[in-house]
Amino acid sequence: MADAEAYIKDLKETITHRDPNQPEFQEAAFTVLDTLKPVLEKHPEYIKANILGELVEPERAIQFRVPWQDDEGNYQVNRGFRVQFNSAIGPYKGGLRLHPSVNLSIIKFLGFEQILKNSLTGLPIGGGKGGSDFNPKDKSDSEIMRFCQSFMTELQKHIGPDLDVPAGDIGVGGREIGYLYGQYKRLNGSQNGILTGKGLEYGGSLARTEATGFGLIYYLNALIKDQGESLKGKTIKISGAGNVAIYAIQKAQENGAKVVTASDSNGYVYDPNGIDLDTVKQIKEVERGRIKEYADKISSATYTEGSVWDLDIDYDIALPCATQNEISGDEAKLIAKDGAKYVAEGANMPSTTEAIQVYKDKGIIYGPAKAANAGGVAVSALEMSQNSERLSWTFEDVDGQLKDIMENIYQKSADADKEYDLGKDYQAGANIAGFEKVAKAMLAQGL
Ligand code: GLU
Repeated sequence: MADAEAYIKDLKETITHRDPNQPEFQEAAFTVLDTLKPVLEKHPEYIKANILGELVEPERAIQFRVPWQDDEGNYQVNRGFRVQFNSAIGPYKGGLRLHPSVNLSIIKFLGFEQILKNSLTGLPIGGGKGGSDFNPKDKSDSEIMRFCQSFMTELQKHIGPDLDVPAGDIGVGGREIGYLYGQYKRLNGSQNGILTGKGLEYGGSLARTEATGFGLIYYLNALIKDQGESLKGKTIKISGAGNVAIYAIQKAQENGAKVVTASDSNGYVYDPNGIDLDTVKQIKEVERGRIKEYADKISSATYTEGSVWDLDIDYDIALPCATQNEISGDEAKLIAKDGAKYVAEGANMPSTTEAIQVYKDKGIIYGPAKAANAGGVAVSALEMSQNSERLSWTFEDVDGQLKDIMENIYQKSADADKEYDLGKDYQAGANIAGFEKVAKAMLAQGL
């Protein structure tokens, strides 16, 4: 039998050979494989059963055509995906992303992350992800509706409340979930366990909208507390101005921290007085506008085009909540130079491999996405439970469970870090803790 190192090397070669054009998936898979080495050394049975060989290969990857008609009457065609990655611990669960960058590599990387993230929540959900290269920006409401209806016309053949339960991700919020659900219902009858992130009027859960952002701060609180510090009085730089960033700002402010930035794909606002949340909510949630407008409304703020990570100010905590690979190695060096001691990820894989190396070299404490942003999918699983029992829990109930789940995720990662003597490597800790449950389930179920 191969030793752990040779086994990992072999798997990496297989992945590269099979999917030479999937850099995002390779990056995610290779990082996880590297951090699992000590587990494989301790548990040769995982090598013997080739658990990792199975883990890196999706159980099923569905690709389909999505034809739709624009407002001018033209026929458009996009590509849709659903990757059902791993169902060892429960039905496939994960969001749908609508963004022009979407391709099989991105969906596989997100789906792969989702396996371990979902495992960390402690809830019985497997990993999946889907989406399309459709660009929802500047589309009319009826174009969005026609696209969602066409997308679901195909997707509905492959999902089910006990099989695969999609939700939102970038470009898919309450409006899109509503159109997707409406089409599912038209074709199959009412089954509100089919999607999560639904409106409150038709089976959605209270606190689902807030969950990823609130969860990020509950995780951060647990992490910081364990280092003998608190959020009170800390200055935070955040990227993004979507659902994750908005509710992270809200919860961080409630904990006495000052958040001084917000951003979108064009640029960022810097407000040394602290971001005024009502103004951001008005621009993003009501007017569906750009973050630039914040500086028109708030006199203490300035707007600059480019990446918020290039803004040179002193702060304590970085919360990337925009998109994958938004922080380069050089930007990570700037984060260290600006004096930040913590990075916790609200977006999926916002730090490049080089950036993560910089955090490690400079002693920045790093909370990886699969642990820090698991709050969204955790409350999605609570939404599934409520749908199954035909009940709606109170906001306090769901929010309280979310807080417990996020504190547990931190604790599990910290325990794995201690068990394997990793030196406060909460990335490896999260990978190990997430993996061990999935590996045991896979082993128990045989080939
Ligand atoms: N898209 C979110 C994530 O990346 C949530 C997925 C879900 O609720 O199923 O975890």
